[in-house]
Amino acid sequence: MLAGHLPVIRARRWPVNQKTKGEKESIGKLAVYPGSFDPLTYGHIDIVERALEIFDKVILAIAHETSDASKRSLFTVEERIEMAKELFEHLPNVIVDSFKGLLVDYVGNTNAKVILRGLRATSDFEYEFHMASMNRSLNIHLDTMFMMTSKDYFFVSSRSIKEVAALGGAVEGLVPNLIARRLKEKFKLPVTQEKQIGWEY
Ligand code: ADP
Repeated sequence: MLAGHLPVIRARRWPVNQKTKGEKESIGKLAVYPGSFDPLTYGHIDIVERALEIFDKVILAIAHETSDASKRSLFTVEERIEMAKELFEHLPNVIVDSFKGLLVDYVGNTNAKVILRGLRATSDFEYEFHMASMNRSLNIHLDTMFMMTSKDYFFVSSRSIKEVAALGGAVEGLVPNLIARRLKEKFKLPVTQEKQIGWEY
């Protein structure tokens, strides 16, 4: 039972830094948020925006395609970078970058100590747990931090967005309009008057 754990949590005394008491304090300067982002959804954007409340800067690190044909992305890495740059243009503390090869090597070169990942459901947990454990065994100085999805986006994944969009379903409200438009172009569907929900791109 959850309540049974509460006394243990309360018993812990957090050190109070007098200098920063009452001010917004970042627990770390830089976090790397890696992923395929094929394409970016509001689920991803929500994680980035919330991470900026904790970190000074977030690097959105877009993974290059792998040689595994079954994991071929819909959008090229150049397209994903271009869309992400446009979507985060108004947030100067979000750096859009890409990486190839081992994530820990990339993160090590950025001076970040934290890899940021989002968690939707328990089904995400097993994969994420293995990846975080492997990354930590490769570089003991790196930690993975998980942020829970917001209730509005727990069912949103890049994969489901692509599946729905490919069949002509409406994905507005789940992805920015820019992404909805680019999906329609990719799937050669007519780009009609977009419903202006959310970000107007
Ligand atoms: P992957 O790195 O497995 O290709 P994605 O690029 O789709 O995954 O997503 C990058 C990260 O964002 C992953 O940690 C994933 O769990 C998380 N994520 C994806 N969609 C959401 C969402 N709707 N809410 C919260 N986190 C999400």
